[in-house]
Amino acid sequence: MSTLALSFEFFPPKTPEGVDKLAAVRRELYALKPEFCSVTYGAGGTTQGGTLQAVQAILADGVDAAPHFSCIGATQASVREQLQAFIAAGIKRIVALRGDLPSGYGGLGEFRYASDLVAFIRAETGSRFHIEVAAYPEMHPQAASPQADLQAFAAKARAGADTAITQYFFNFDAYARFVDDVRKLGIDTPIVPGIMPITNSTQLLRFSDACGAEVPRWIRLRLQSFGDDRASIQAFGLDVITDLCERLRAAGVPGLHFYTMNQAAATQAICARLGLGS
Ligand code: FAD
Repeated sequence: MSTLALSFEFFPPKTPEGVDKLAAVRRELYALKPEFCSVTYGAGGTTQGGTLQAVQAILADGVDAAPHFSCIGATQASVREQLQAFIAAGIKRIVALRGDLPSGYGGLGEFRYASDLVAFIRAETGSRFHIEVAAYPEMHPQAASPQADLQAFAAKARAGADTAITQYFFNFDAYARFVDDVRKLGIDTPIVPGIMPITNSTQLLRFSDACGAEVPRWIRLRLQSFGDDRASIQAFGLDVITDLCERLRAAGVPGLHFYTMNQAAATQAICARLGLGS
């Protein structure tokens, strides 16, 4: 049994069937004894209400749960109200984000960056919440430069973030160098790598382009060569991601955060190969 802390990310289901399916997926993944589970917000038009419901369901299972909370377009009053709702629900951990501007959206609101949200949460609620923030080993796609993005990360840490979760990546060196650069700034915030299991090549390639995660040429070409052969994609994906996790573990990462896409099998298979949770 390893001491590596695991966490699992879900998105809020939109239908009653989705709710039931996610409950079953969660039950399977709880066998891996996650430190916490998180639920996304805003992506794909989801609402904070859907996020809160899913978080409450996880808390009711007896597992720690964190809502993702983005501040784009928010006012101080609306954030204050949401924080009160979190406190009333017994939530102790938040993933604090800027979020992405929906297309056609006019205003930025009263928070410009995630660091503003982190500072506001700390000012309003002290140490009530454990605050997670996002990190980008391969640079956030809208950042002016890698150095500027590093400073943006440092601002979130200095504003009071406790821990960070990275965007997923397939280049181990990008993660290792990012962590080194952060440490050189005197910041010791634990940076947990975000792990994206590979199960579907079309979806992965499209999604990676949008969020700025590089799929290395050798992985892209292999995936494309498999065509519709799902079994080969999954077998290859399992090898690649398990190897990445092994390297991360050897480098002493504090944990692994899995982007589960509300599926249990791929995450379970990777953890089984790593000998985690059994
Ligand atoms: P920030 O840290 O504010 O950074 C945004 C951009 O602004 C970066 O380019 C940064 O370099 C720049 N910047 C920051 N501060 C400054 C400054 N002072 N001056 C100049 N530039 C600055 N999206 C969702 O919609 N819902 C989710 O649930 C969700 N969950 C996520 C979970 C994780 C772990 C990760 C890694 C991402 C998630 N995202 C989610 C995506 C995220 O919302 C987007 O990547 C968003 O564009 C940036 O959010 P952020 O919190 O990283 O922003």
